[in-house]
Amino acid sequence: MKSHLPEKIYLASPVWLQNVLVSTYGAFEHRRRYSGPHKKYVEYLRKNVFLNKTEIADLQSKLLERTLKHAAQTVPAYQALNLGPTPKLTDFPLLERESIAMNAEAFLSSKYKKEKLITLFTGGSSASPLKIYISEEARQKSYSFWQLFYDRMDFHVGDRKATLVGRKIQEPDSNNPPFWRYNLKDRQLLFSSYHLSEKNVAAYLKKLNSFQPKIIEGYPLSIYRLADQIIQNSIKLSFTPTGVSTSSENFTQKQREIIEEAFGCKVFDQYGSAESVVFASECEHGNMHIEPEYGVLEVLTNEGKIESEGSGELIATSLLNEAMPLIRYRIGDLGEITESNCPCGRASKILTELYGKVGAVIINEGRQAPTAAIAIAFEYLEGIKNAQIIQNEPGKVTVRLVKRTNFDSKSEEFMIWELKKMLGQSLKISIDYVTEIPPEHNGKYCMVVQNYYKFTVPD
Ligand SMILES: [Zn+2]
Repeated sequence: MKSHLPEKIYLASPVWLQNVLVSTYGAFEHRRRYSGPHKKYVEYLRKNVFLNKTEIADLQSKLLERTLKHAAQTVPAYQALNLGPTPKLTDFPLLERESIAMNAEAFLSSKYKKEKLITLFTGGSSASPLKIYISEEARQKSYSFWQLFYDRMDFHVGDRKATLVGRKIQEPDSNNPPFWRYNLKDRQLLFSSYHLSEKNVAAYLKKLNSFQPKIIEGYPLSIYRLADQIIQNSIKLSFTPTGVSTSSENFTQKQREIIEEAFGCKVFDQYGSAESVVFASECEHGNMHIEPEYGVLEVLTNEGKIESEGSGELIATSLLNEAMPLIRYRIGDLGEITESNCPCGRASKILTELYGKVGAVIINEGRQAPTAAIAIAFEYLEGIKNAQIIQNEPGKVTVRLVKRTNFDSKSEEFMIWELKKMLGQSLKISIDYVTEIPPEHNGKYCMVVQNYYKFTVPD
């Protein structure tokens, strides 16, 4: 069980002490993340950036062979499969989230002492939390992948960074500024993503202007709220970031354009998971490359086949975390993988689409629309600031909309037409105008909320 005591003490402290605590923890984390093999591994990864397809395939198959052998020999859950001395990836069964939830320790390699490992807790508001063990070394290497991603924005840890993620930096119910705390060691200003109401946004922007961050990082829909205010009120920023780094949420193309226009720089999206099995990140040309040294990504197609390319449920095999090597793990996201043909020169495969979470779909008459499809229906809503679709029963959905003053009812008709085109004319759509769509417990905004249908995928 995760201890909430440090968080409770922190939240009960005065602001000045919270800043001290954030900086103290920040300094501790800095040492923990960026020591050990971190720097050397950054150099190694930089040398690999422009490997050709054959070199990548060779490199990855060596890493995979080593991981599978190690798993089959030292991990109880895999030892029980009796796979022999040279196991192949196809010998391994699909790994369910539930199997880890029931007995995480069965996936620990006997070569590692549990007490020496770092425990990560995953899981959003709905899913049951998972315990993932990772070695300090593997975690330091995983931050090397972040540095390679930051290279594209010319950012180095220690450059000023503004961060907007779901961390509770103050009580979500309290509405007293300041809505930010400072991590001295990394020169990082942490903003609360729970307090981004229209009333508070001006204070956020004023602080950003005085802080002058090199990059802005966080949940795209939180950053979008800031961007939207900048555009609506023609606010002038006194800085231009070298990039906006986003992750963890689906967002529309339109929202991306608004962020890019407001901050005058490109959005770089990253895809990963707390289970430390995959790392993909956007290059200068907007393609999300899958890092071959981090993990092997495959798809489980609708027909129940596992393929190295195509679209379906994403299946990941970690190459990085030898302490807890998860193999063919059902990560819970839907996506599409294609061969690379990117002008940036990287030959690694590309995650061309991320359709959203398995289960975050709207269903009618046997048709399904995942988050990415819903995003398209929401794309051209003129005069709409935020939108969310909720399904509580078969055949019916509620769309919650936050209107602007320039709202045009024609765009609403267009959205209904798009949704019915995708999901069938029988779909009943009711529209609910609200003043705010609040974030979930984890600080993220959910575009699609599916409350009645339990999504299952083929075995
Ligand atoms: Zn590229």
